[in-house]
Formats: sequence, C-alpha cells, structure tokens
Amino acid sequence: MSELSSAFQRCGIEPGEHQGGSLAVRSPVDGAELARLHETPASQVNEIISRSKAAFLKWRNVPAPVRGELVRLWGEELRQAKQDIGYIVSIEVGKIIEEGLGEVQEGVDICEFALGQSRQLCGKTIVSERPGHRIMEQYHPLGPVAIITAFNFPSAVFAWNAALALVCGDPVIFKPSEKAPLSGIATFKALERAIARFGDKAPEGLAQIVIGKAPLAEALVDSSSIPLVSATGSTRMGRAVGPKVASRFGKRILELGGNNAMVVTPAADLDMALRAILFGAVGTAGQRCTSLRRLIVHRAVKDELLQKLLKAYSTLRIGNPLTSGTLVGPLIDEDAYDAMQKSIRAAQEQGGKVLIGGERALEAEFPKGFYVHPAIVEMPEQTAIVRHETFAPLLYVLTYDDFDNAIEVHNDVPQGLSSCIFSNDMREVETFISAAGSDCGMANVNIGPSGAEIGGAFGGEKETGGDRESGSDAWKQYMRRTTNTINYSRELPLAQGITFV
Ligand code: NAD
Repeated sequence: MSELSSAFQRCGIEPGEHQGGSLAVRSPVDGAELARLHETPASQVNEIISRSKAAFLKWRNVPAPVRGELVRLWGEELRQAKQDIGYIVSIEVGKIIEEGLGEVQEGVDICEFALGQSRQLCGKTIVSERPGHRIMEQYHPLGPVAIITAFNFPSAVFAWNAALALVCGDPVIFKPSEKAPLSGIATFKALERAIARFGDKAPEGLAQIVIGKAPLAEALVDSSSIPLVSATGSTRMGRAVGPKVASRFGKRILELGGNNAMVVTPAADLDMALRAILFGAVGTAGQRCTSLRRLIVHRAVKDELLQKLLKAYSTLRIGNPLTSGTLVGPLIDEDAYDAMQKSIRAAQEQGGKVLIGGERALEAEFPKGFYVHPAIVEMPEQTAIVRHETFAPLLYVLTYDDFDNAIEVHNDVPQGLSSCIFSNDMREVETFISAAGSDCGMANVNIGPSGAEIGGAFGGEKETGGDRESGSDAWKQYMRRTTNTINYSRELPLAQGITFV
C-alpha cells in the first residue's frame, strides 16, 4: 500500500470515498493523480442546509462550555492525526512537510483557544440612565455557518472557523477548495471522530462537508438559511460572494488577497530582515495570502541588503516538498506558473529589471510539476503590476529616500492584509504602527508579514475584505448580540426624560 493510501486509511478516508468519482485531485509535486472524489450533487444542497438548520435548534441549547468539550476532543484528534494530515497537506498543496505539519498545529491551537473561549462568550453590563434599571448584552448562537476555503490553507482555515463556530453554538457546512479537498476531508474526519466520542449531545448534521467546485459554494452563499458565510480566497471570489450575501442581509467574513510589504529603514538589523524576507517571500513558494510581495527599502541600505538577498536566493533548495532540506516546493498548477510568467513580463514592460529567478526549475525531473526559481524584480516605481497580487514567489523591490514617502507607497495598493517594518528607530516603528502608518489589518515590527499566531485577530482591510477571524474577539462574528434593558423598579420612566401619559 502506498504511503498516501495508508495515510488516507489512518485518517478514515475509505477507498470508496477517494476512488471512482468525477473530481480529479492532482499533486503539484509531480502532477500524479491522488484521488477521484465524488462530487456532492447540487440537488442535495437544500437537504444539507435543512439538516444544519435542524441541528442548530438543538446545538444552541447545549451550554457553551459543554460545546467547548467537543472542540477539545477535536484538538486531540488533530494532534493524533498530525503526521498524516500534514503529509496529505504537503503532497496535495506542495508545501514543505514542516509547513504541512505547522498547518495542522494551527488547528490544534485554535481548538485549545476555542475551548477557553467557550467559557468567555461574555457581553457587557452597562449602567442605565434610569433608576432601577440595568442594561446588559448577551451573545447568542447565530445559525448554520458556511465555510468556503482556499487551496493554500486547506486544513487550518476550516479549523479556524469551525472551532469558533461550534463553541458559539453554530453548525458548520464546509466547502473545501476543489484544488485541495483531501486535506479538508482529513481534517473534517478528525472532527467526525470527535463528534462520535462526544456522544448524543451533538445533533445529527452538526458538521457537514460538500465536495465540488464554485457552484456548490454559490448555493450556500445564496441561501437565506445560512446567516454567516465565511469565505477565504481571491478578491475575485470575494467580489462575487460579498454582494450576494449583502443582498439577503446575511453576515460574511471575507478573507481575500494580500499585497504585503516590508519597509526596511537605515536603522534595520539587516541580517534579521534578510531571514524574514526569505521566509516571507519564498516560503510556501510565495503562495500564502500573507507572503511578502513588496520590499520597500531605503536607498542607503538597498545595495547591501540586495547583495545578501541575491546570495541567499542563489542557494535556495528547490525541490520535492516531502524531501527533508527542501525550502521551496512547487506552484499549485500550470495556471499559477503562467500567471507568474505573465506578471514578470508585465513588470519588465513597466520598467522592471529581473535581478534573479523567474525561470521554471526541475522540468526534466518533474515534467508535470511547476517548480520555479523565486524571482526578485527591481522596479523604478510602484507600477500597475506591483499593485496586483501574483500568487507566486515574485518579490518587487522599490527604493525610497523619505520615510513618509515609504509609508505612502506602502499603502498605495488596493489590498490591506499584512505588513511589517524592520527598524530599531523608535520614531519610525511607532509611526509605522500608528494611525498615520500602515493601513493593513496586521502591522508587524521586526518580524515578517507571514506566519501569524492564532491568538490575534487575522484579516485585512480594503480589497482583503475588512473582516477578522481566528483570535482576539473574532468569535463575536459567529454570534448574534442582544441588548437587554431590565427594569427592576416599580416605575416605568422613559429614556431621554420623555413623558408620555
Ligand atoms: P479562489 O478564490 O479561486 O477559491 C477559493 C474558494 O472559493 C474555493 O473553494 C472556490 O471553489 C470558491 N469560489 C470561487 N469562486 C466562487 C464564487 N463565485 N462563489 C462562491 N465560491 C467561489 O482562491 P484560491 O486560488 O483557492 O486561493 C488563493 C487566494 O486566496 C489568494 O488570493 C490568497 O491571497 C487568498 N487567501 C486569503 C487568505 C486570507 O486569510 N486573507 C487566506 C488564504 C488565501
């Protein structure tokens, strides 16, 4: 039995589930077919939604700390299956194995976070202007949540959303990316095992999965029985999903594209910046939403930094992500390779100079795998192509002289996900994270833009969508808030001193 078949078996994915279907799943490592999944017929979607609605009526009455026990069990199952799910992520998405394992760890972390959160779904108590009155807020479960995910975090993004939704009292319907459904299924199976251990208190239909392409997700997006749609993916997808959900007054969490930058000032520790640039720009082959895409460097340190960077780029180990020591795996598919080539050509037409990389790598060894040499392109200014997210290891270098101008350039892109500054100058650092600084959802100091921890709220502004998930108070989006004014007096005074009868 192949290593993959054994991993499927240990994850509870039966041969009948991954063979004989119409959806072919290919590995970006070598183009080999990994599975043929059975797609969920569109005709079943209404039934799935009805089951979720029925599950909600029961689940919302289970006390939140008891719901927390379910995600605790899920975290245990993920811990146990970490090697197998990490391996499936790696072979299905092309991430190096370390990153595949890290992704499953994020799932474990959010389960632990959500367990704690299950005892902290707190509203405020507010003083009233009226004697003998009290105002308080409560957070109540919302209803079924649709979770639509992107290919590049096929396990963790489902866990981020589902762990919080479940403790908040919401059933979930998961639509994984059609480019990476196996990792999603493996993560979902771990949840099913946790549900089985949890017992009768988990209603039938609490967690469901649908397998297929965008139209399946659209059916969930259009359903007024789903009060919250959490969709992670391209800005193109968000543009389609956002208005549809808004038109039926639903809630949405949109986690869309980024165009993340690093400002390197003369006061930076250049060796630290170098390491952060490498992980940020070439890690996951530049296919993280938070990947570093723009380097905005002061003229005084540009040459020194570029010299170090080009040296490091020339020794990057590109190859099979399952082989230890590899740092850069393949792009997800040929379309991603073509998009990178197109962007490099556009950058050249707009005055850019390719300093290194961009070519295909390992073509003889992997004729159906799309490996590339990560590219650095120096630009004369922030042209149209630099303002566009290319989902590949393509780093643009821009030079600045004046710090205020660096911030202006930094913010002058349509996306607003993650950002960072490398500087040991307190004035520069504080300005960068101030109201007049980076306009992104995440602004880091002396660390790169990618590799967030689950404790903080994750998400970005502008075309990134404007929403947050994961840590901090992101849980509130999975609940509905009620304001209760309670009168414990024997009078009935009106607010604002109004007298009526
Ligand atoms: P994608 O937009 O092609 O697909 C994402 C998901 O949306 C898939 O499940 C797909 O089936 C579904 N989808 C596509 N069109 C749809 C539509 N019209 N209606 C409903 N659903 C639709 O994205 P991708 O190529 O899988 O992922 C890469 C993109 O995701 C990048 O832009 C990246 O920046 C972004 N991303 C963002 C975050 C974040 O948290 N901000 C995280 C990961 C990835």
